[in-house]
Amino acid sequence: MQRLALAWKRSGTRVGFVPTMGYLHEGHVSLARDARRRVGKSGIVVVSIYVNPTQFAPTEDLSRYPRDWARDTKSCREAGVDVVFAPTDASMYAGRDAGRYSTYVVEESLAKGMEGASRPAHFRGVTTVVAKLFNVVLPDVAVFGAKDWQQAAVIRRMVADLNFPLKIVVAPTWREADGLAMSSRNAYLSPAERSQAVVLARVLAEARASVRKSRGPVQASSLRARLEAMVAVQPDARLDYLEFFDPETMVPTERVGRGTHLALAVFVGKTRLIDNGRL
Ligand code: AMP
Repeated sequence: MQRLALAWKRSGTRVGFVPTMGYLHEGHVSLARDARRRVGKSGIVVVSIYVNPTQFAPTEDLSRYPRDWARDTKSCREAGVDVVFAPTDASMYAGRDAGRYSTYVVEESLAKGMEGASRPAHFRGVTTVVAKLFNVVLPDVAVFGAKDWQQAAVIRRMVADLNFPLKIVVAPTWREADGLAMSSRNAYLSPAERSQAVVLARVLAEARASVRKSRGPVQASSLRARLEAMVAVQPDARLDYLEFFDPETMVPTERVGRGTHLALAVFVGKTRLIDNGRL
């Protein structure tokens, strides 16, 4: 992969890159199309498919994460992707089990709250694998989804701090007809859970409506209580976190108004779902 990328670089070919964990859906495909628009017909679009072990805690769903190589490559072909890069664990983390892999990239500020607080080693795995993928694929532009808002912010910061010579683009979240954000993990949901999972989108819509109809800023604590109750009435849903924050700095805020960002994580049955949006 890196030899190919170096040849593209030498010939002045622009490279657009979309890192994924596979089990692709329309949201992923929209990122690939965005990458194509940015590099043009003469550019190369690379999608990586890699379920990165270092971003999963031992208790999480690494081993059962859904995979469908045939369907993913078909989606990529239809979306005009030029190269699917699917490295093995052995090539990414050679010798890790034997203590011969020991370099990690850690963002120490934006990664602290929300996903970082709930999943302590998660962002260390994400920044490490994305840095490695950038060094292998050598993209001019990399496209990430707003679905993982904090992740995109952390990666943007890493790219600025470590002088990666590429542009980060954040593209909108794709949703099912009822509002549920598309996610590979939606495949885990039973029919009963699937219908309860729409509560994340409903919480976002309710928060947005409250902010829009209020004259001034709303108190986070009272709005949070109302939104938490929406989750609590779902028999199989359990709130992990719900936070109001500044969309650039990730700093939580008590005064919620237009432009404030809301992110939440909810367990629906055993499946952990996340969503976020601008109020
Ligand atoms: P994943 O395969 O879940 O690691 O996601 C790979 C990339 O696709 C990340 O940049 C995600 O933010 C993005 N992504 C995931 N779901 C969606 C969605 N529903 N809409 C847009 N982008 C998404």
